[in-house]
Amino acid sequence: MKIIELKDIGKTYSTGKAAVAALQGVSLTVEEGEFLAIMGPSGSGKSTLLHILGFLDRPDSGEYILGGKNITGLTDNQSAILRNHMMGFVFQQFHLLPRISSLENAELPLIYAGKRHMKEKAMERINDVGLAQRALHRPNELSGGEQQRIAIARALVNDPLIIFADEPTGNLDTRSQNEIMSIIAELNSKGKTIIMVTHEEEVAGYARRIIRMRDGKVIADEALHKDGIPLGEIRRSEKKKNIPDEKTANPISVSVDAIISGSRLDIKRAEFTDHFRQAFFSIISHKMRTALSMLGILIGVAAVIAMLALGTGAQESIRKQLASLGSNLLMIRSGSHHLRGVSLGAGAIARFTFQDVDAISKLPGVKCVSPNVSGSGQVVYGNKNWNTQVQGVSVKYATMRAAVPTVGRFFTEEEVRMRARVALVGTTVLRQVFGEENPIDKYIKIERVNFKVIGILPEKGAAGPRDQDDVVIIPVTTGMYRLLGKQYIDSIDVEVSDISLMDEAEKSINELLIKRHRLATAKENQDAFEIRNMADIKQTLESTTKTISMLLGSIAAISLLVGGIGIMNIMLVSVTERTREIGLRKAIGARESDIMLQFLIESVTMTLSGGIAGVLFGTGIAMLLAVVAGWTIKVSLFSILLATTFSIAIGLIFGLWPARQAAKLDPIEALRYE
Ligand code: ADP
Repeated sequence: MKIIELKDIGKTYSTGKAAVAALQGVSLTVEEGEFLAIMGPSGSGKSTLLHILGFLDRPDSGEYILGGKNITGLTDNQSAILRNHMMGFVFQQFHLLPRISSLENAELPLIYAGKRHMKEKAMERINDVGLAQRALHRPNELSGGEQQRIAIARALVNDPLIIFADEPTGNLDTRSQNEIMSIIAELNSKGKTIIMVTHEEEVAGYARRIIRMRDGKVIADEALHKDGIPLGEIRRSEKKKNIPDEKTANPISVSVDAIISGSRLDIKRAEFTDHFRQAFFSIISHKMRTALSMLGILIGVAAVIAMLALGTGAQESIRKQLASLGSNLLMIRSGSHHLRGVSLGAGAIARFTFQDVDAISKLPGVKCVSPNVSGSGQVVYGNKNWNTQVQGVSVKYATMRAAVPTVGRFFTEEEVRMRARVALVGTTVLRQVFGEENPIDKYIKIERVNFKVIGILPEKGAAGPRDQDDVVIIPVTTGMYRLLGKQYIDSIDVEVSDISLMDEAEKSINELLIKRHRLATAKENQDAFEIRNMADIKQTLESTTKTISMLLGSIAAISLLVGGIGIMNIMLVSVTERTREIGLRKAIGARESDIMLQFLIESVTMTLSGGIAGVLFGTGIAMLLAVVAGWTIKVSLFSILLATTFSIAIGLIFGLWPARQAAKLDPIEALRYE
């Protein structure tokens, strides 16, 4: 039965100026069970013909009929599937992958056929070529002859229709040559069709038919007599055995049809786990290089994690501090903020009195008002003393500034009126002065004046460098007249009844104070007092921290980008370095998508593991900063997900181009790559 029929095949290579006609009008018929040797001087077109026969290359003209089916003009994918299922290749250079065992080399065609469940076939074939005990050795631990035997096992593993051998003994000594040729001859005697290129008559002597080529043409086609039986005889007897009726559908044609149309059920794809294994092997075989290129991603991701942790930490601590102050709070201070402490001469600074407080509390939209004075003072209890901030406030302060005591009570209106010597202590003062002792109803001295402690203020935490709990609170009147010796109020807190009235209230307070203090010029107004709007401050702080986070984030993103370019670079190097490996994979049936997937998995594995290491490293840095520098940090799940997604995306994006380069390689050119 005819397996292959070539009609008038032509192939021309154009390299730069000159066009070389590698094949000119070659017609050839190959019968099932034949052992065909192609001979001829170097450059006569033997390899080109073999490659075209084996779907590794495509003719420019002519027709290819496989099992009675015209299959000229297959797509790359169809060729790959046909190679995988119907052809086995044995090359002069063996082309075993160096980093995996002989057994795994022999398994490769099964993997690309999606038949990993049939892996024992690989071992059976290795056993057939007599190398069972060396199956787990790597190719570089085997002799040339043994490597070629493994390559033959690999070619047989998918039970192909035809074996193509390109100078199979060209790299072997005589003893190995004889071994290999007897294996091939035995395969033929068991019915395998074999097409072999050789330039050695001795090797060709194993064949049953020789075609001789010169200048791209077949110049002779000889049948060899074997063991006294003419070839024609053998063919006739085989025909009788195998094909009872020429009219029944050609089984090869049927399966070629099914393979091409994709209707054969056993045509499967390589599994993801196999791709992953292939990728994994190549990653671990270049540990140092992989580690270095992962470092870029690691640093980038660590930066993202640490910076986001700092950013959200800062934002959160600011938000917490601001939460203790109502948003609809206006704070009026005498003297302009930036000129505080600088003497401006009489009249330039507004000096607030209780009359001002009364007048402000009567303005529309104002809910409550609290006057404040502050100064520093030394607190003494027993043999302990501590310098702290003393604040004189009114009763309303407790609710306006979230200062309702956790233990004890706040002072009353009566006590304010009486200028009572009662005090509430912040937790820092409590720790420093009382230690573990209960302070309630104890007497302390503030600047040598006796005060009774009536409550402990709730803990507020630090606002930047200032410890908000390092404070003692006393009635505003006591503060002014008995302790700090002040005639005027330092600042007034105003709570507005609704946030929508803030601007209006601010304006009317401004007008009121100008009128009451007879401030004339705009310049004086500016310096005399200052109204701060909490809502504005909050917004400014939040947008500032957001800006800082974004800035830090973009620096981190840039470092990730740089890391990604590093990955791309390594992947391109890897593709170039492994060109022959890619050629081999394609020759034994890997499709473009298989190669592409393998390289993409490689780059994503690198970036993802870099990313995971980066998440751990970045979290470590953030924690270190929290402990050593005392910064507030927060590693959010969001930032971890973001960093992980980012590192996967970088692997995909920067691996895509190298992977495409690899997938598009021409198998023959890739195999010849030096
Ligand atoms: P053989 O195997 O008989 O030595 P080849 O089939 O390799 O011959 O080559 C036939 C001719 O085609 C030679 O002249 C060779 O230089 C040319 N040739 C083969 N492959 C290429 C190619 N990829 N590009 C350009 N010329 C080629």
